[in-house]
Amino acid sequence: MIGGNAALDFVNTASRWGDEPVDRLDGAAGFAEWATIAGLLYGDDQKMLEAEIEGDPKFAARFYRDASALREAMYRVFSAAAAGERAKPEDLETLNEWKVRAAKHCRIKQMDGVFRRRCTEDAPALERAMRLIFEAAEELLLSGRLDRLRTCGGDHCEWMFLDLSKNGKRRWCSMATCGNEHKVRQFRKRKKKAAA
Ligand SMILES: [Zn+2]
Repeated sequence: MIGGNAALDFVNTASRWGDEPVDRLDGAAGFAEWATIAGLLYGDDQKMLEAEIEGDPKFAARFYRDASALREAMYRVFSAAAAGERAKPEDLETLNEWKVRAAKHCRIKQMDGVFRRRCTEDAPALERAMRLIFEAAEELLLSGRLDRLRTCGGDHCEWMFLDLSKNGKRRWCSMATCGNEHKVRQFRKRKKKAAA
């Protein structure tokens, strides 16, 4: 979880440097596991999720197909935003379809005289996890912080993250992986130059 935002972390669950995106979650069961690690579900949710997937494999497969389509649409919208380009209308349409889907489970309620938004807990756990991911995407897009949206500069790494550093100069998804690889490469280059 390096994205600094649940939607970015979800986007990073697929690699896209080949011809076709490689899905590291590989289905609803993998999504369930990831969503729990990501802190989107807790307590009995994990059990509920497993039961949903086992009880209705067709629903789980359909859900995962939709979730993967959102993931790719978010990736394209975020990368366009990071590059200062316009997002494609069809990708925004996919996001807007999820906006409706995410809102379906939420209501305005009056509790002790105060109005609150309450999102029902009886929605399927899969949908609840996706609602949180969608809301993180929406929050990011509307936040005005898109100038801090980055794609990792590492070879074969297109992970996206929010650069929350003070000076705004973070280049790598992680210093331990891509940042370190870069340092090693620079070191080798210098050594080669010195030997020549
Ligand atoms: Zn990286």
